[in-house]
Amino acid sequence: MKIVIIGAGIAGLTLGLACRRAGIEVEIYEKAHELRNIGGGILLWPHGQRYLEWLGLSSCLTPFSVPIKGCRIIGHQGQLIFSEDYASFYSLIEGEILPVDRHQLQHTLLNALGQSYVKLGKPCVAIQQDEHQAHAIFADGSQVSADIIVGADGIHSTVRKSLNEEACLAYTEHCWWGGIIAQQEVPHLSPHEVFMAMGVGKMCVVWPTSGQRFMWYMPVKMPLTSFVQKGDGLSQLQALAADWPLAIQAMLTSPYNAKRFHLPIYNLAPQPHWTLNRVVLIGDAAHTLGPILGQGASQAIEDVFALTLFLQHGVNDIPATLRQYEHCRRAKYQRMADLENQTASMMLHDKRETLALFEQHAKDLDLMTIYQDLIPLVDESACRQLKRRAGACVI
Ligand SMILES: Cc1cc2nc3c(=O)[nH]c(=O)nc-3n(C[C@H](O)[C@H](O)[C@H](O)COP(=O)(O)OP(=O)(O)OC[C@H]3O[C@@H](n4cnc5c(N)ncnc54)[C@H](O)[C@@H]3O)c2cc1C
Repeated sequence: MKIVIIGAGIAGLTLGLACRRAGIEVEIYEKAHELRNIGGGILLWPHGQRYLEWLGLSSCLTPFSVPIKGCRIIGHQGQLIFSEDYASFYSLIEGEILPVDRHQLQHTLLNALGQSYVKLGKPCVAIQQDEHQAHAIFADGSQVSADIIVGADGIHSTVRKSLNEEACLAYTEHCWWGGIIAQQEVPHLSPHEVFMAMGVGKMCVVWPTSGQRFMWYMPVKMPLTSFVQKGDGLSQLQALAADWPLAIQAMLTSPYNAKRFHLPIYNLAPQPHWTLNRVVLIGDAAHTLGPILGQGASQAIEDVFALTLFLQHGVNDIPATLRQYEHCRRAKYQRMADLENQTASMMLHDKRETLALFEQHAKDLDLMTIYQDLIPLVDESACRQLKRRAGACVI
């Protein structure tokens, strides 16, 4: 069986590697001429790490290990509103949250896979299929055929258009800034603690990450018309951060930020199909999640794990197998999307009064209460359940 993957993001590269480990012939086609550093970091939750481990890919995570002991949140007036050690929360989710530099993770996956499996500078423009094969057509006029084509080409997926003409992307009312900075530039922050500052319609979250650096992100609730897309967005960032302590302002706007980025966040409407005959979508091409819970990459890896389980035992009926994969993943993804929306409305308040109420209430919270609905989706029993379901369905 031959699989062609469109897109060399986290989903595409992880699937490429998983296919190789499972002895499946695979090729990846990426539109960019090099794996671009879009900046910032991502969180890998324990279930994402566990699936990588079960796929035999855990060594890809070794470079990112960083000990984080707890978290501290300050309110919009600089007062401490929450502080907790992570130990008991980590025992509930049966693992740790790993903050990773996205670009470094992509390169680690690429090196493990082997560069020759990834063809760069190949934008896919269309997908066709017949009874026997699926075909990807590229901007340079070339084409490639395979038993299965996987669309791992992100939120603006071209492959998705061959399944569902109407993609329906909607602005989430949130824009997003992010960056990575050396710990020595931010000496007042603990390298073993997650730090969060609340603000009116915004928050700033800082995670220690590997290489003695911090990765930070700042979601802001704002109308799309107010967002300044052009340039480096520095003056808008300065204005947005102006009421935070000087040390936070200095970190966000520091020229020593490696590849600071800013962008509006879009949501993809639930898609009627993730599969059609020999074509299947994974990761952001199939479904998106807002960035508040930091679940997008782990969900993409969960897709890869489920799809690989279905494929690795050999497939008699490809369309039926791909439908089984979709069926197996849909309900879980929807629960995660609902939680993401709930958490965004719990954490981001654009009125000072509701923010003050939340901050008052936060003093009585603990991580177990904040994440109580998320825990059963990310702990080991949830992973085992997916493994059993997928294993039991293999046709
Ligand atoms: C601001 C922001 C912050 C986030 N933070 C987190 C976080 O903390 N934790 C987390 O888990 N997730 C986070 N996410 C989500 C996470 O980044 C995505 O869910 C994850 O990267 C999905 O990966 P993907 O491979 O599906 O898509 P992508 O990473 O978008 O990769 C798609 C790839 O396909 C390529 N491509 C696109 N079109 C074509 C084409 N026509 N032909 C060939 N190639 C093509 C692209 O160039 C790209 O390389 C965040 C997302 C955003 C926007």
